[in-house]
Amino acid sequence: MARIVMKFGGTSMAGTERIRRVANLVRAQAAGGNEVAVVVSAMAGETDRLVNFCREANPLYDPAEYDVVVSSGEQVTAGLLALTLQAMGCKARSWLGWQVPIKTFSAHANARIDDFPADTLIESMQAGQIVVIPGFQGISEDGRVSTMGRGGSDTSAVAVAAAVNADRCDIYTDVDGVYTTDPRIVAKARKQKYVTFEEMLELASVGAKVLQTRSVSLAMKRNVRLQVLSSFVDDDAPSADTLPGTMIVSEEEMDEILKEAKMERQTVTGIALDKNEARVVLTRVPDKPGAVAEIFIPLGEAGINVDMIIQNVGRDKGETDVTFTVPQAELARAQALLEDRKDKIGFNRIITDANVAKVSVVGMGMKSHAGVASTMFKALADRGINVQAISTSEIKISVLIDADETELAVRVLHSTYGLDDTSAAA
Ligand code: ASP
Ligand code: MG
Repeated sequence: MARIVMKFGGTSMAGTERIRRVANLVRAQAAGGNEVAVVVSAMAGETDRLVNFCREANPLYDPAEYDVVVSSGEQVTAGLLALTLQAMGCKARSWLGWQVPIKTFSAHANARIDDFPADTLIESMQAGQIVVIPGFQGISEDGRVSTMGRGGSDTSAVAVAAAVNADRCDIYTDVDGVYTTDPRIVAKARKQKYVTFEEMLELASVGAKVLQTRSVSLAMKRNVRLQVLSSFVDDDAPSADTLPGTMIVSEEEMDEILKEAKMERQTVTGIALDKNEARVVLTRVPDKPGAVAEIFIPLGEAGINVDMIIQNVGRDKGETDVTFTVPQAELARAQALLEDRKDKIGFNRIITDANVAKVSVVGMGMKSHAGVASTMFKALADRGINVQAISTSEIKISVLIDADETELAVRVLHSTYGLDDTSAAA
């Protein structure tokens, strides 16, 4: 007997027919003698719809009331799944955020989990009840409903798994695992059997949408066994217990796995793309101490996330150009904020471009291999793709390029780093 957390995303929960498929998967796990907790997302598209209602009602909406509205999507699917399971003769009960309680800090719309007393859930599971928990929602310090940022149901699931000390947390989605890159762009993309937490964290943070970034860091911190797998499977498909999806593992576990298979670590294991960034250039900024602080402190205070930054070599007269990226959705706000401070910062012109994309290559092997970046730059140059900005971490290199060249760049890099699945038909 094991204790399993199963999480189902929006496409898996979209409509009663799909919820019935989900209920079948849940029932099968419970019938195998396991204790089961299920975390669900709202139906696909529902949260977007609710966010739009908030915007229409009040463009400067109060995040606490936004949470009241957007948390409702998960409440509906949790109740519907419990009802469907009951109709199949299973003992099932939903537990809303405040009932568990999943306590969060008060940052509404982007709350972090503070405390998660799991006694009630564990008692119910031990009594043979399937517990169904709406993802995304918690209860804030002031006793109001809170939500954990878009994609937050993944984090709810990992938090439940950590709190009830689950043997495994299965994240069911519409793809059957984590691929070397988006298979819709590269037909030869391969499903990976294992990915390390560190790699998954980087991939999630640079645009791979499989898991919310926060859920990966929580799983890494609490050492939760995490599997990404598909809920769209036939009745005779192998059970989740045979680990058909992608397992997210620690670096040590990965080393063991490679050793056993007598395989070398690959330098690059994944390529991600993100078309939601925009580029900002401030020209002729004074080249003196404190000038960049003058630019980035107000952006930070406004909650605008700056990602890549380049400060060009100074021109004459002690001036320099500063280039950086912000999320496209924040571009207008960033621009207004900077224009307001034009004199204080002392720049000449602000140039923006939303038609850019960030392409990133990620891999633990970069720690021990030289020349990964130069290989990337050469492969892009050979195709005439211009690099507009670069940022790196120990296991990641990101480049900013023209959005129209994204697909080409991803394909070229996928084959350059030897990731193409040669067994698949071309
Ligand atoms: N329904 C929420 C969203 O769309 C949370 C989630 O599905 O993870 O962002
Ligand atoms: Mg999601």
